[in-house]
Amino acid sequence: MQLASDLKVYKMVDVKKLVRENVIRLTPYSCARDEFNGKTGIFMDANENPYGSLNRYPDPYQKELKASISKFKGIAEEKIFLGNGSDEIIDLCFRVFCNPGNDKALTFTPTYGMYEVSASVNDIKVLKVPLNYSFQIDLQKVKPFFSEKNLKLIFICSPNNPTGNAMNYSDVEYIIKSFEGIVVIDEAYIDFSDKPSFIKLIDIYPNLILMQTFSKAFGLASVRVGMAFSNPVIVQYFNKMKPPYNISTINQKAALRKLDKVEEFKSQVTKIKKERERLSSELQKMKITEKVFPSDANFLLVKVKNANSLYNTLVNKNIIVRNRSSIIDNCLRITVGKKSENDKLVKALKAIII
Ligand code: PMP
Repeated sequence: MQLASDLKVYKMVDVKKLVRENVIRLTPYSCARDEFNGKTGIFMDANENPYGSLNRYPDPYQKELKASISKFKGIAEEKIFLGNGSDEIIDLCFRVFCNPGNDKALTFTPTYGMYEVSASVNDIKVLKVPLNYSFQIDLQKVKPFFSEKNLKLIFICSPNNPTGNAMNYSDVEYIIKSFEGIVVIDEAYIDFSDKPSFIKLIDIYPNLILMQTFSKAFGLASVRVGMAFSNPVIVQYFNKMKPPYNISTINQKAALRKLDKVEEFKSQVTKIKKERERLSSELQKMKITEKVFPSDANFLLVKVKNANSLYNTLVNKNIIVRNRSSIIDNCLRITVGKKSENDKLVKALKAIII
């Protein structure tokens, strides 16, 4: 297999120039386990309790887990950063690159809400460019922003939450190529898509950060492990900024165990994709449905006649979907469940008379 690191880098963006000056100057916290790498010995360096089985601090750089991810993805370990969910990585993007009260980020709306929440936490202004009628990026609308003063980050969610679609490859590559700041691609749902991942582009464009997660197709939402793939310079800045022990030993082990069961992962993804198509066609037949949007993710965006009342009716039947009508007119976002769960939803919807 060709490792991504064998490919040639051809875009000359000096990433260091984009990093906040205080971050460049920062001396990171040095933890006891930074100084000694061995696994055996008498550990009297970290003020741990000598008794018990969870008494030791975790590996701050998650080396074993990264080695396994590296093998699975074909990406060199020094290009991998792991966060407490992708949500920690989103926050780190702001903290590494954006000066509070001064810099800006851009999102394509409607999209995942945490980009804006994290921006607000870090006092960063968000510029919102609406997706077009088919929820794709409108390049003409984004082009003027490439020269926007203090615009540091562009977030692209693909497949996008809550619309479900993957973005056109050439549009995304055009943005990474043209924008002199950092582009963050969020591929939380990529394993459910038949379209290609943008992951190979991290070797071509040093200004690209690509995020994936163990929360969706790997079925480990409760474990909180998010992945960022980028050039080693950016990975080093993330390492400098993160809390020393950001992923617990238990969580590192849970993710490692999942990577040993790739067949289970693949069969669950296949099942979910099959159920997505079945649920989509069932929903399309219903009178309450105006449109089921095509999905590259594990959920369906569905336009209905009256989303608020339908949402409440389903809640009363103990079925919880996501009401997205505040951001897309009369739309519900429905996560694909197990076959039996999808059957119950379909039955409940069929019983609704309008
Ligand atoms: N990105 C997107 C697009 C999401 O929808 C979500 C969660 N719903 C996340 C990131 C957060 O992922 P994690 O659980 O890894 O923090």
